[in-house]
Amino acid sequence: MARYVLAADYTLMTDYRGVPLATFFSCIPTDHWYSRLVYRILADPPKLDAQGQPIRAPYGLRKIEAALVKAVGRDQVVVADPGHLERYITEDTEVVGLHTMDPLGLGPVSMSFTMGGHLTPYTKAKFLELAQKAQRPDRKYKVILGGPGTWQFDYRQGVAESLGIDHLIYGECDNKAADIFERVAHGDAPPVLRYTNRDAPRVEEIPKILGPTMHAMNEVMRGCGRGCEFCEVTLRRPRYMPLDYIGDELAVNVRAGETSIQLHSDDIFLYKLENWKTFEPNEDAVRELFQYVMDQPGVTHCYPTHGTVSAAVTNPGLIADLSRIIRAAPDKWIGIQSGIETGSPRLSKAVLNRKAAPFTAEEWPEIVVQGTEILNRNYWFPAFTVILGLPGETPEDAWMTVDLIDRMEQIPNNHFITAPLTFVPVGALRGEEFYNLDEMIDEARFNIAYRAWRHVVLEMDQDLWRLTKLPLAVRAMVVATGRIGGRYILDIVRRYGSHRGFRIREPATSVRQAEGHTVSFPAA
Ligand code: SF4
Repeated sequence: MARYVLAADYTLMTDYRGVPLATFFSCIPTDHWYSRLVYRILADPPKLDAQGQPIRAPYGLRKIEAALVKAVGRDQVVVADPGHLERYITEDTEVVGLHTMDPLGLGPVSMSFTMGGHLTPYTKAKFLELAQKAQRPDRKYKVILGGPGTWQFDYRQGVAESLGIDHLIYGECDNKAADIFERVAHGDAPPVLRYTNRDAPRVEEIPKILGPTMHAMNEVMRGCGRGCEFCEVTLRRPRYMPLDYIGDELAVNVRAGETSIQLHSDDIFLYKLENWKTFEPNEDAVRELFQYVMDQPGVTHCYPTHGTVSAAVTNPGLIADLSRIIRAAPDKWIGIQSGIETGSPRLSKAVLNRKAAPFTAEEWPEIVVQGTEILNRNYWFPAFTVILGLPGETPEDAWMTVDLIDRMEQIPNNHFITAPLTFVPVGALRGEEFYNLDEMIDEARFNIAYRAWRHVVLEMDQDLWRLTKLPLAVRAMVVATGRIGGRYILDIVRRYGSHRGFRIREPATSVRQAEGHTVSFPAA
């Protein structure tokens, strides 16, 4: 039986029936029956292989698995079904490794959906369930925890111990995993291991995945460099995976039947960046990357995880070329996550640093509008984030973000969503206060949240059916659930505002509404 058992919580192991952007629903509250219904329908259980292990696992966990298999052999490492972790733990188990993203519900999306942590998001509930299953009364094995969400234990001292977690691992450690597990198994590791960006592995030290990943994710780069103050990613040294490395990894997903590959990138348009002054994309390298991926046998679609709109404005021809390479079309859009964060030129200058580069930070709102129009014109569907409560944000700044959403809704045939996030003190702003919703929200910030969610519901009504590829009956159920879920979140926001006495500033009539695509929203 295996020495090392790896697991991630249920929210990281469901594929949400392949519904675009449904992963956001992992952050909805568990506290109401209707949210439980939405979650139950959308979050289907992980599919298992003949050995009872999940067919797909989070990309980060696959990296740790690969490093361990290389060191101790395939039969000594298992990935567990999170619903039954206890069944994978045997007398031979030496270490149980938990991979986490948002273990205590302190991530920006969860904080936004749960009224600043008053409610309990699924991410937290499912993590706590997993942590409990990792325990046995007479256990001899150790429990360790790593992954992008480990930072949350810095803000909740004593919680790791109370959950029976023996070691916390911070930072990138793909190349050190075997050594860490060995030391932990032999009782030679301190309770906390912190790896800094100086310790981060070089590309050739990062093991290739051995099994398929959630959402067919394949990493193409790490790090960014645009320098936004609230961002951890920008602190990482930029590294780019070479094409043959990417090809080997995506073949693992293709062999599992995946045809649409998610290219994980902190800013895809910075792949193999050469001009660090202007941040203008290395067009040849980005084009070559997409062409290479689309040329791989079995691949019919691909899309990046993240990218910045500035590149669309500096290089609209590149966006058009990529759409042609991916064969994007009115019924085949390219999703991309992108940060707006604020519509205020002043705040943009203060915290977004080089996000608008090569344009000035003050031009940021204009860049967002132009970039969205260019992306949409080429069948790109951006999922934007806006942040409530960036340090130094005034009501005037917040109203400018509302204005920006207004302007974006005026773009003809616009397609985007905006997820409002509450400020979380990470990156260079680590140590600043968490955004305390009750104390810090005002009418302007409330309107950002409301208007952002209102647009999400509008998109769900217009596009969810078209963009969801599922058998008819499942599709109908999922689309109805998504629409109800979107309205549910909007209703939480609206009731909260009404309770606080905030007025809703209604939007100017958008082009889409003027064209007759109207939807009803709850009255304020
Ligand atoms: S552009 Fe995105 S990834 Fe890059 S530093 Fe800013 S927030 Fe981070």
